[in-house]
Amino acid sequence: MKELFDELKKLKAKRIFIQYPEGLKTKIQEISSDLEKNGYQTVLCCEPTFGACDVRDFEAKRLKCDVVLHIAHTDFGVKSELPVIYLDYIFDVDPIPIIEKEYEKLSSYKNICVFTSLQYVESMKKVVDYLKKRSKQVFIGKTQKYDGQVLGCRIDAALKFAGKVDCFLYVGTGRFHPMGVCLATEKPVYSLDLEKQKIIDFQKEKMIYLKKKAWRDQELKDANVVGIAVSWKQGQNRIDEAFSLKEKLEKQGKKVYILAFDTASKSKTLGMKFDILINMLCPRMDDEDLL
Ligand code: SF4
Repeated sequence: MKELFDELKKLKAKRIFIQYPEGLKTKIQEISSDLEKNGYQTVLCCEPTFGACDVRDFEAKRLKCDVVLHIAHTDFGVKSELPVIYLDYIFDVDPIPIIEKEYEKLSSYKNICVFTSLQYVESMKKVVDYLKKRSKQVFIGKTQKYDGQVLGCRIDAALKFAGKVDCFLYVGTGRFHPMGVCLATEKPVYSLDLEKQKIIDFQKEKMIYLKKKAWRDQELKDANVVGIAVSWKQGQNRIDEAFSLKEKLEKQGKKVYILAFDTASKSKTLGMKFDILINMLCPRMDDEDLL
């Protein structure tokens, strides 16, 4: 927190607009109270923030805030009319009992690329040490702030080793990051899931996804009325691509609507009629969120 207070002092900030991931909701009041005790006013953004692609400088300005505090995300390069402070939030979860229990799943691989998301960079380091001690050749890329760190839509830190490794190992929680890598490579991808306390092989998930995708592709071919979902969030804004796609689909005889969302959900299109919706928002949105 010291670095944060130094930065706020440097910016002469008084009122702070705070964005944070859903997973930090239980802690955010505590963080806000700490800031208030130190003389700052805070406004907690209650719209979901999935990444640093979403900087709410316009909203913050309207609420007369002078700085945006983005917690648990790293700079995505989004331009902002207000200063933005990115505050790391790193969980120190011990992965060793899990890898010890599940090591057999990795034992036959010699060259392993390990990757993670921001919150788990410390846990990843412990996994890397563990694998090195077992004479594995470990590959770790760096394209974000930390070694091995990927974003859901930026997975180069892992993919750059696709030609060199025997498998990939994600350290963290959830399916989004390992699934992204799994879809982009033929090599096996595993997730050391710190919540589920096991190592998960993503091959089966990939097969299910690809079957679903083939089904959706056919649905799109047959569709008469299509919605293309876009977002006005700065780092997700693909409006030009959406209009090009609309033109292409219209040439195939379809009726196409562009739908703009802040955060997309099924309930927001209730009453409208579409044969299919195309996601041009964050790739982490599941079909189930939209359809
Ligand atoms: S577009 Fe999605 S995956 Fe990419 S940074 Fe934003 S929230 Fe994360």
